[in-house]
Amino acid sequence: LGLDVYVVAGNPISHSKSPLIHQHFAQQAKQAIHYGRLQPELDGFAKAAKTFFAAGGKGMNVTVPFKLDAQALADHLTARAQLAGAVNTLLIKDGKIYGDNTDGAGLVRDLLAQGIVLHESRILLLGAGGAARGVIGPLLEQSPKCLVIANRSNAKADELVKLFANLAATKEVALESRTLADLENSEKTPYVFDLVINATAAGLSDESPLSAAAVANIFTPSSFAYDMVYGKTTAFMQQALQRGARISDGLGMLVEQAADAFLVWRGADLAKQIDPRAVLVKLRS
Ligand code: NDP
Repeated sequence: LGLDVYVVAGNPISHSKSPLIHQHFAQQAKQAIHYGRLQPELDGFAKAAKTFFAAGGKGMNVTVPFKLDAQALADHLTARAQLAGAVNTLLIKDGKIYGDNTDGAGLVRDLLAQGIVLHESRILLLGAGGAARGVIGPLLEQSPKCLVIANRSNAKADELVKLFANLAATKEVALESRTLADLENSEKTPYVFDLVINATAAGLSDESPLSAAAVANIFTPSSFAYDMVYGKTTAFMQQALQRGARISDGLGMLVEQAADAFLVWRGADLAKQIDPRAVLVKLRS
């Protein structure tokens, strides 16, 4: 067809909303592109991605479980992909594969679009896996007062605190780690939070990472609770609602990270022509 071809690669991938989201952006920006799905074998990402680019593919979004494989495959990484330790966007330029990560920028843009003030705020990030790591850099860039990373086991949260210590110092952010159990103890966690982000995978199995005691300790009615999972009101979101806090799922993050990827591929000058918030409204209707 002569159209530039893009895909989202994951396993499984049939439920991905990325093709629909990118079709909306392409329409808004009057770009003629083709955007499809690719499901590599679990151990076959590198081969599938190389074949795609060798056949003329222009760019790829990467989702679970291939973000580390995508990082390993890339010839060059952007600074934010290096910090995130994972790649969700690949593009080809002059025969080289570039790896970028737009997840954290997507989260921050979604929060700001929802009127959440991040500057000087107290943020609690639940989880210390790939999704958590990807958003720490962009959150620190907003100069919150503190960022507390809480995980079931302390080791992974401690590692992330060490990894981001320099950036936190530059931005004058108090970056600390806790266990989820520490959150129940008001001596170990002596403050409530303006923003609590659930970046654990607990919501996928209808569990919350927070006990009732932790909920009582960390939320007030003026808190905002954000779950990266989308498409349902998770146990974590229900707990926040019961405390009178406002909630959001992660669909806006998905749309905003896609918008950033679209601009990486098609040119930042198209930013004024695409409207991620309008796409979000369409997806929710
Ligand atoms: P990882 O497997 O890398 O990390 C999982 C994290 O969840 C770990 O910190 C783990 O803790 C914790 N965890 C898992 N189960 C529980 C539980 N029952 N109670 C408490 N903690 C738990 O996954 P990712 O970081 O890649 O993904 C996390 C979530 O974010 C997924 O649900 C994913 O769908 C979502 N996501 C959404 C995006 C969006 O655009 N909206 C983008 C990226 C991810 P431990 O270390 O103790 O095992």
